Formats: sequence, structure tokens, C-alpha cells
Amino acid sequence: MISDSRRTSARPDTDRLGRAERSQDKTELPERPDRSKIEHEAPQRFKAVTRSNVDATPEWQSLDPDLRQGIEVVSAVLPFRTNRYVMEELIDWNAVPNDPIFRLTFPHRDMLSNEQFERIQELLNSDDKAALDAAVREIQLELNPHPAGQMTHNVPTVAGEPVPGIQHKYDQTALFFPAAGQTCHAYCTFCFRWAQFVGLDDMKFANKDVEQLAGYLKEHPEITDVLFTGGDPMVMRTKVFARYVDRIIEDPELDHIQTIRIGTKSVAYWPQRYVTDADADDLLDCFRRIVESGRTVAIMGHYSHPVELSTPIAREAVRRIRDAGANIRMQSPLIRHVNDDADIWAELWNTGVKLGCIPYYFFVERDTGARGYFETPLHKCHEIYRKAYQQVSGIARTVRGPSMSAFPGKVHVLGVQEVGGEKAFVLEYLQCRRGELVRQPFFAKFDPEATWFDTLEPLTEADRRFFPGSWEELTGEPEGTVPLSIGEA
Ligand code: SF4
Repeated sequence: MISDSRRTSARPDTDRLGRAERSQDKTELPERPDRSKIEHEAPQRFKAVTRSNVDATPEWQSLDPDLRQGIEVVSAVLPFRTNRYVMEELIDWNAVPNDPIFRLTFPHRDMLSNEQFERIQELLNSDDKAALDAAVREIQLELNPHPAGQMTHNVPTVAGEPVPGIQHKYDQTALFFPAAGQTCHAYCTFCFRWAQFVGLDDMKFANKDVEQLAGYLKEHPEITDVLFTGGDPMVMRTKVFARYVDRIIEDPELDHIQTIRIGTKSVAYWPQRYVTDADADDLLDCFRRIVESGRTVAIMGHYSHPVELSTPIAREAVRRIRDAGANIRMQSPLIRHVNDDADIWAELWNTGVKLGCIPYYFFVERDTGARGYFETPLHKCHEIYRKAYQQVSGIARTVRGPSMSAFPGKVHVLGVQEVGGEKAFVLEYLQCRRGELVRQPFFAKFDPEATWFDTLEPLTEADRRFFPGSWEELTGEPEGTVPLSIGEA
């Protein structure tokens, strides 16, 4: 069970002036449900809640007007989307605004600077829609919408033609972005793919051509894993998803594909996908077919907080997925205001392991969007990771982190050490565009404020080769574009 003390983020919230936010008038709020006892007489139907219809929900009406206004203004720039399940069963409205799932799904006014906030607020109150749209776009472009070289480098090709919707950054793994899987059951406020939700990416990288995928995989026998990603590929109907999968598993020329990975938040935001949706059983049958073909189905489950595993239906989803022969790996970034506390992570991993999931990645929040609101210094990320790791048994110590999915590869923070009398970060690549650098420890100068790899500097000349500034293959601007490094939903 989730203890009340862990329902809130580690730090009490204050606004930009340092004032504590007003807590809600509990007499106006709906009774908090006991999640472990929620039973639905009929299957819950998916209903998205966005800026355009949130007004009609009782939870919204119960919010403090200042809080509502903050959400309204920020969501003009960074939109929110959630659903009735998240609102009714995951958010504790008595703990708002500090409830972690509230923070994970509803924007906060501090996600914009004072100046940005006031500018949008003013324009929202005016009739000048053109000026509002222009200001929104300008601010969005200031928020580094394409981190880690997303729109550059390594355009995959089949027969000399660029293939949209495939990313092939590391030898063994191809990422596939199916066109029908480029949204999510709910958006995360920290999302590093927010640009595609606001029309900054025109989804040109999404792909609906099954033959193109098969053709690319045939040309690359070194690929063993195909990662379906998005958005969230599990928003696709089963028959669309199965079309891709069956094409792979029925072709003897694609025997080198050993693992079908699915990067998804649905296990947390819409577990009904595996239990009560009309095509839930078909989906599980599809998983079974993959397993029967001698392959592995790995659900890369995006779990950010143990409350996401607290409801009967979330647990039933895990049980049914595992019963179909798939395994579930758990991953998430450390997100300030949501899970920046070692106890939360220890509880998440322990709960997951108890249900049969495998702790996998502990990421660092990416350098995009409202990163200033969510990021945590690297040394603190490592401290939280270490303290959580110390609390779990060996069976949960499969988790790797803190890991930055940076431009050159996945950079693992191993710790902080004194080297030759100087404080330094000890790092290694778990994945790298230059495969020969993987798992070789290297050092960067310690910086207590550093939150991302880009700002780190080599400790010595010998460490310089681990930093991509001088990598020749990365200095040219390739033709065409394809997103990179956005594969870990
Ligand atoms: S982090 Fe993943 S699940 Fe969350 S909104 Fe972004 S793509 Fe969707």
C-alpha cells in the first residue's frame, strides 16, 4: 500500500515568490477513494480530459481559482491531456497541488518564467488570437523542443531512400514510430516529446508502412531488437499493432529479430488496455504469438511513482501481461516534485518486483521543455539513486542509473570521487554512438549545479575522447532529418 507520507512530493511547494501554495478546502473535495478497493461494475471507457473539457469535471471545479488559472495559462504553451482513470484513481485531490500524479499530469505556473507567464496571460485576456499564437510558438521554440540532436543525424535508408519513422542509433536496436501511436493516454508534464504534441514536429518521422519496416530490418541483420515507441504505441488498436508484429514474426528472413520491445506508459495511465478494453484479449494473444515464435516481448513500462501500481486494475494488467509470456521492465526519469525521494523509488521497485516486474532504468530528466522546473543536479540524482538502491534486495538491483539519454549515448553517472585531489564525476557509456567507448569509465569535472551531460567538461586530456565535441562523424549536417534519442517512453 502507498503510505500517505509518500503520496506527496518530497518538497512542499512554493510559488516563485516563495509563498506556500494554498492547500485545498477539503470540505469541497470529493471523498478520497481507497484505491485497493475500487471495483467497476462495467468496464471503464477511455475519456480524455484536456484544456477544452476539463471545466466539466468536478475535480477541476474543486480547485483553487489561482491554481486553475496557472494551469490554463501554462497549458496554452505546454498542453495537458489526462483521462478519467488518472483523475479518479491516481490523483489524491486532498493532496493537490503537491500530489505527485497531479504534478505529473497538470502543468504548474512555474513551468514558465514570470515574463512568459504574464505575456501569455495578457494575450489570453485579449481578443488577439494571432498575437497569442505567435507568442505561444515563440516560447515553445525557446524551450529546446528537439533535445539530443533529435532532428539530425543518421537518417536510415532502404534501397537508398530515407525511411521516416525508424531510428537506428545503436547497432542491435531499431526504434520504430508507428504513425498510429504518436499520442498518449495522458501526457506527462515533463515529457521530452512534447514538441510533437504541439505541432512542432509534423510527425513526418512517424511511419505506417509495414513493408518499409520489414525491408529495413532485412537489410540490417545486426538488429536483434525492435522497439515500438511513440508517443505510446499502445494507443494503437490491436489489429494495427498486430499488422506490424505479424509481418516480422512470420518472415523467415527476419529470424534475427529476437525481441519486440514496447515503450509504453499505458500500464500506468490506462491499464484497461490489457484488461477491459474491447481488444485487450486480442492484444494479449498477439503477445502470445510473438512468444510462441521463439521471441521475447518486453514491455518497457513507464512507471514514475508507486501509486501507479496501487490500483487493482494496474495490478491485474501486470498479471495478464505476464500471463501472456511477456515481461515488464520499469523505467522513468527522476522528476522533481514527483519522485525526487529515495523512499519513493525503493517502494516503486519493491512493489514492481513483488508483482513480477524488472526494475530497468533510472533516467535523468531531459534538457527540454520545462526542464528548469523538473530537473535535479546530477550529484543529487546519484545520491537518491544510491539511497534507494541500498533499500532493495539484489533482485531489484537490476536497475541502472542515473542515466542520461544524451546526444552521444546513454551516459551513466557512477558516482563522485576525488581524483588527483580534484572532485570529479565518474561516468561511463551504457550505449554510445561509438561502440568501443561503452563501459569504459571516464571522468568529468565536478559541478554541483550540473544537470546534464552537455555542460560537463573532461577532467583530464585523457578524458576528452569521451566527449563528442570533436567527433568527426558528428560535425557534418546530414541530409534529411529523423528524431534520435527519443526511444525510452
Ligand atoms: S513521457 Fe512518454 S508517456 Fe509521457 S507524455 Fe511523453 S511520450 Fe507520452
